[in-house]
Amino acid sequence: MLSARYRPWHVPLFAAKYGWLHARRRPVLVHFEVTMRCNARCDFCDYWRTEESARAGEHAAFADAARRFAPLMITFTGGEPLLRRDLEGIVAAVAGAVRLTYIAVITHGAMLTVDRARALRAAGIDQFNISLDYLDERHDRARGIPGLAARILDLVPRLRAAGVDAVRFNTVIKDDNLDQLVPIVERAAALGAGVSFSAYSASKNGNAAHRPRPAQAQELQAAVDALLAFKRRRRGVIVNSDHYLAAIPRWFRGEDLGPCRSGVRTIHIGPSGMVRRCPDFPDDAHWTAFRPYAPIRCSECFYACRGESQAPLTWSRVRDVMA
Ligand code: SF4
Ligand code: SF4
Repeated sequence: MLSARYRPWHVPLFAAKYGWLHARRRPVLVHFEVTMRCNARCDFCDYWRTEESARAGEHAAFADAARRFAPLMITFTGGEPLLRRDLEGIVAAVAGAVRLTYIAVITHGAMLTVDRARALRAAGIDQFNISLDYLDERHDRARGIPGLAARILDLVPRLRAAGVDAVRFNTVIKDDNLDQLVPIVERAAALGAGVSFSAYSASKNGNAAHRPRPAQAQELQAAVDALLAFKRRRRGVIVNSDHYLAAIPRWFRGEDLGPCRSGVRTIHIGPSGMVRRCPDFPDDAHWTAFRPYAPIRCSECFYACRGESQAPLTWSRVRDVMA
């Protein structure tokens, strides 16, 4: 999915940059966690319990870090990144520091408006990833924000009308939204948006309550099969690779899917500039003292950013990225 900042002739340059980063074992994707605060109330995440004093640590020089790593993709995440009123300035500084970088922001969407999206777009955001796990009030209850699902679904067409058309829903596959997966994809397709799925994990705060149960194995497999069938009918809506989607039931069954390459292909830089191999591991060192990680035997999660790094670079994968 190309953004307005890039043209088709940039694609080979992105491919060359990917090859260069890969050959040098440098991260392809850097997550900038710009704040640990959040005003949602998800019960599978403790970020919203972060003490106000944590704001004192929000001083990372993200543009300098971006220049140092010069990754292919950058995400601004949190916590809730839109809580930072200076987010546009941070994005503009980062976008100005690195060339050939695709920049996304991950938000729960409650504070995203057309004006804010325009400002972020002007600063350098290529893509807006909005969390959406249900199309109805279940989403509001899960996030602790009344009216959230309806707000998001109302916002997306207005964003498109305002020229902000690179929107993806980030959808977590849980025990009680298996009936929602295809409807979310269909709604995204109707809205001109994409969907990126991730498997639910208890790795954030140990809450395993939303993990699909063994008794739901058939239902889960059927839901994943339906997503794969949708991808065959229509490209460019579901952005996950077939490889990742097909592995989700296996991961929930507890199969060993091999080492995790978080920290190798992706790294996380927190609000004070400390690096973690992934959001659910402790800080290791400040980014100025970064040393490459090695793959790790860990199966605590199967988020898309972990699972997609294991997907082989096949022609269908390239088509997924280009669609
Ligand atoms: S999962 Fe996201 S939206 Fe929910 S509390 Fe954590 S940071 Fe906030
Ligand atoms: S599997 Fe990888 S990304 Fe997930 S918690 Fe473990 S190290 Fe982090």
